[in-house]
Amino acid sequence: MSRSAKLFVVSGPSGVGKGTLVSCLREKRPNLGLTVSATTRSPREGEQDGISYHFLSEEAFEHLVQTGGFYEWAEVHGHRYGTLTSEVEKLLAQGKSVVLEIDVQGGLQVRRMNPDAILVFIEPPSLEVLETRLRGRGTEDEKTIQMRLANAKREMEFADTYDVRIVNDSLDDALCKLEAVFDTYESDEGSRKNVRN
Ligand code: ADP
Ligand code: 5GP
Repeated sequence: MSRSAKLFVVSGPSGVGKGTLVSCLREKRPNLGLTVSATTRSPREGEQDGISYHFLSEEAFEHLVQTGGFYEWAEVHGHRYGTLTSEVEKLLAQGKSVVLEIDVQGGLQVRRMNPDAILVFIEPPSLEVLETRLRGRGTEDEKTIQMRLANAKREMEFADTYDVRIVNDSLDDALCKLEAVFDTYESDEGSRKNVRN
């Protein structure tokens, strides 16, 4: 079966497990292209510039906005985040599928830029579980947790505009489903049109 490189978007509320799922997927598919986003938020403990994110000043971010450096960008939870066009183009030119772990505003911009992109929405089993995970991660202060939970409800309203929805209850099950989505859409037999109709 032949495969073709595709652009995938993975979105979902903060704390739902996007990062965990994408990093597990990457272990199974080392050839999967992952971009490093730019952000104006400050690094968390342990985050490294150029690896977790490109941590930029407001001015440097704005310069990239003005010069068309972003494939998409959005303000999320009070900070700006964006995907660099250069990174997406480089990976696709290498024949790699690319996964963008971005918010819903960004996901919808990507769909406009590239109608063939496959948009996957990760949902929590419940808002209570989402809160437990967000708190359990231990990376955010109370004010930030409250803002992220409030934003979660808004983001989840976009779930049905996405091509695929996966509930991240058991991590193993969700990972299997995510892998199946990549397998299906990368295979020639499962072109986007066939799968959706
Ligand atoms: P996101 O990238 O969506 O903000 P993370 O991947 O950082 O979320 O996950 C948030 C927390 O939830 C982490 O502590 C992670 O280990 C945990 N987590 C992720 N998926 C599951 C799951 N299926 N069951 C239980 N805990 C999970
Ligand atoms: P965090 O601050 O927890 O790393 O990320 C917060 C949110 O920003 C997450 O929902 C994540 O998906 C989103 N995000 C991260 N990078 C990008 C990006 O490049 N573009 C957009 N639109 N959202 C992003």
